[in-house]
Amino acid sequence: MTAPGTLLSVARTLDRCTVLGPGPRAVVWVQGCPLRCAGCVAAETLPFEGGTTVPVPELARHLGALTEVEGVTLSGGEPFTQAEALAELLDAVREERPGFTAMAYSGFRHERLRRGTPGQRALLDRLDLLVDGPYVAARHAALRWRGSSNQRLLALTGRYAEEVARVLAEDDTTAGVELSVGADGSFSWAGVPPVPGFREGFEEQLMARGLLPRPDGRKG
Ligand code: SF4
Repeated sequence: MTAPGTLLSVARTLDRCTVLGPGPRAVVWVQGCPLRCAGCVAAETLPFEGGTTVPVPELARHLGALTEVEGVTLSGGEPFTQAEALAELLDAVREERPGFTAMAYSGFRHERLRRGTPGQRALLDRLDLLVDGPYVAARHAALRWRGSSNQRLLALTGRYAEEVARVLAEDDTTAGVELSVGADGSFSWAGVPPVPGFREGFEEQLMARGLLPRPDGRKG
């Protein structure tokens, strides 16, 4: 029997998304965040318990085979609590696809991560784009790929530098949210909500139409 290798705790994955970073991207939401931003849109990803434990090589193979996407966005949860495993994940995907791009969200500021653990610095060194800082509900804004105006969109390599400069200078508006239908017919959504409280209202509408099960399992 072979060892599973490094493990990641994952809340959810999406094979294709066009509203969480440039171009079509896969998304990996990790499980667990030490912060508690009021109004966090991903409350189910905050506990470190739960999630699905996934071997890094298995997830790398899955991402590498997604030929329609140009990269992955790491969200959560807090990606930098599993930074070493995520750095290993990016290295593994790039063995087969050297041009595979990486973007990440973090509730921590870039400067703090640069002074962080070796794993956090390793992950930063492998990212093309970072959205940093906690979500601040009082500063909610309909910005490209960010939830509140304190959060920065930082190009860490030249890969998206021109696009980031253009967005910030001319086109810094919400990318909206995107609905996906799974192979089993289930609905899910992804994106940065353009208005506070969006998630509750949107999910209520989906539940009323029977497109999302209610927490008690009822439909409609
Ligand atoms: S850092 Fe992100 S995931 Fe963590 S509580 Fe804040 S908004 Fe939620």
